[in-house]
Amino acid sequence: MSDLYAVFGNPIAHSKSPLIHAAFARSTGQDLIYEARLAPVDGFAAAVAEFVAAGGRGANVTVPFKEEAFRLCDELSPRAARAGAVNTLRFEKSRVFGDNTDGAGLVADIEGNLAFPLPGKRVLLLGAGGAARGVIEPLLAARPAALAIANRSADKAEALAALFADMAAVDAGDFAKMAGRSFDLVINATSASLSGNALPLPEGLFAPGALAYDMMYGKGETPFLRQAREQGAAQLADGLGMLVGQAAEAFAVWRGVRPATAPVLAGLRQALAG
Ligand code: NDP
Repeated sequence: MSDLYAVFGNPIAHSKSPLIHAAFARSTGQDLIYEARLAPVDGFAAAVAEFVAAGGRGANVTVPFKEEAFRLCDELSPRAARAGAVNTLRFEKSRVFGDNTDGAGLVADIEGNLAFPLPGKRVLLLGAGGAARGVIEPLLAARPAALAIANRSADKAEALAALFADMAAVDAGDFAKMAGRSFDLVINATSASLSGNALPLPEGLFAPGALAYDMMYGKGETPFLRQAREQGAAQLADGLGMLVGQAAEAFAVWRGVRPATAPVLAGLRQALAG
């Protein structure tokens, strides 16, 4: 019988994870089934318990359950413990192991697919929600020259910076605080695009040659990337590569083999454009 995996979220119908993991399973010769499962907003733990009882070996977790998944774990990877959120669960005998692969997926996309080395770069992270929190440790571990966090609610950005103060001095505040500074990489981890709002980005934020990276993805240019292009960003990238990268890292956590991401990313990109 094939090993059983799933992604839990609400909503979940849009998820590309089943497609991605089916492609990984084919390319690595692993015998597994991966499904999308809708969990009720107040019924995540019960849905996971049912899945484990049915033989589930592991799961991905997406909005809005990453913090709840964190609380469900008996053991955490150091990066998940830092992030306070879990996107990958591995079910072992009577224990649940939790990891967070979002940041590794982001860094692999930026340094690998986009060939943009992080050491020495000035990085600005926009947003202080779950997605931002999950990528800070891997970003800092990649040794940028500086990391700053800007968020609509400055207090949330400051609280996040304080949480990582033992790793590096992280400058934090609202968007206006970044006026007069420029960055080599600006990462959008806000959900502003979902509500159609433009971000109040100060002019001059993008240094010559800067990369603008939007965790969001979709057909065509995202609102943040359009704004970044108009404000002078030299390179633009959406979050599809991060999505495939975090999936590859999760696959490695479960199966011990790391699938190649480039062919899957190319296929998804083509499907999105069509
Ligand atoms: P959260 O709800 O946890 O955080 C939302 C963040 O966006 C907060 O910092 C919030 O600011 C900010 N925000 C919301 N609306 C606005 C606005 N109108 N103007 C300025 N700031 C705003 O969401 P997540 O962190 O979970 O997700 C953020 C984005 O990242 C989503 O678009 C998600 O799809 C994407 N993502 C992509 C992944 C990938 O693999 N590509 C993986 C994970 C996430 P405030 O604190 O002031 O409310």
